[in-house]
Amino acid sequence: MADVKDLTIIGGGPAGLTAALYAARARLSTLVLEQGLPGGQMATTDEVANYPGFPDAVSGAELSDLMRRQAEEFGAELELSEVERVAQEGDEFVLATTGGERRSRTVIIASGATHRKLGVPGEDHLQGRGVSYCATCDGAFFRDQHVFVVGGGDTAVQEGTFLTRFASRVTVIHRRDQLRATKVLQEKAFANPKVDFVWDSVVEEVLGDQVVNGVRVRNVKTGETRALPGEGVFVFVGILPNTTFLHGFVDLDASGYVVTDAELRTSRPGVFAAGDVRATPLRQVATAVGDGAMAAVLAEHWLEERS
Ligand code: NAP
Repeated sequence: MADVKDLTIIGGGPAGLTAALYAARARLSTLVLEQGLPGGQMATTDEVANYPGFPDAVSGAELSDLMRRQAEEFGAELELSEVERVAQEGDEFVLATTGGERRSRTVIIASGATHRKLGVPGEDHLQGRGVSYCATCDGAFFRDQHVFVVGGGDTAVQEGTFLTRFASRVTVIHRRDQLRATKVLQEKAFANPKVDFVWDSVVEEVLGDQVVNGVRVRNVKTGETRALPGEGVFVFVGILPNTTFLHGFVDLDASGYVVTDAELRTSRPGVFAAGDVRATPLRQVATAVGDGAMAAVLAEHWLEERS
């Protein structure tokens, strides 16, 4: 008979790894399925400066590694494979993954979110040739060059500031005249002489044949269009939940996030959700780990009630 875990966690970001830690300490047999890098979005964040306990900030990669080690030391198993489908057969959940079928008595969905694309001409064709969605991964390729950052949220402003370590100039293009980012991140960017802003503007096209050589922007107030020369375009215009494999399995909201109640229960008994993938007003490492801990303990209670 196939090995049936007590708990399978879909996603190895801060929510998933914390759930794994709590579940493993409760002596549940626990499997974490991660499709990419353990740590998720956190792993490619240059600096996490608002996670309590690290007054001098900590690199996202280091924090990811610490969380992974801690979960594994208590007995959680981590497997690198992607979940393609989830179904229920009687009392068991069946997960179809790129590594084969996995079975579990409870599931925590912690599959997080990924970057949204701009959807303009040139973006796809020039991805990896000047268009990027990850400053930590690609920033060093733009030493002494002029790069554009598109967006006005926490990610755009934080990663834009990070890019000044390499780039000679970082121009933030934002569709309004005010940033959405947290004030402390804004202050840092405004104080950085390498960062400048193009307000009230959207990117209409990424320019270049083999590599990026600029962007065409349109001022949304005046309608004026102009081409700005530069070598890189970093797109940080928000996130989309990783929930396509969940359609029809649990209820999602209109934006595709998993709907839960206050106890992180989804619409399907025995399935919980934690972290960025959940419909929630705040998406931070701190909230993800809180969700992960709670979901694991509630999954344990759910199993106890049925044993
Ligand atoms: P976000 O907060 O949704 O911001 C997206 C930004 O992109 C907004 O400024 C938005 O403009 C702009 N935008 C959206 N669609 C656009 C389009 N088609 N063209 C041009 N601009 C567009 O996303 P995020 O910055 O990736 O952050 C995601 C979540 O992670 C947030 O909850 C954030 O707080 C969190 N996060 C936190 C930290 C931190 O605390 N240090 C760091 C990174 C991320 P408008 O402002 O006009 O809507």
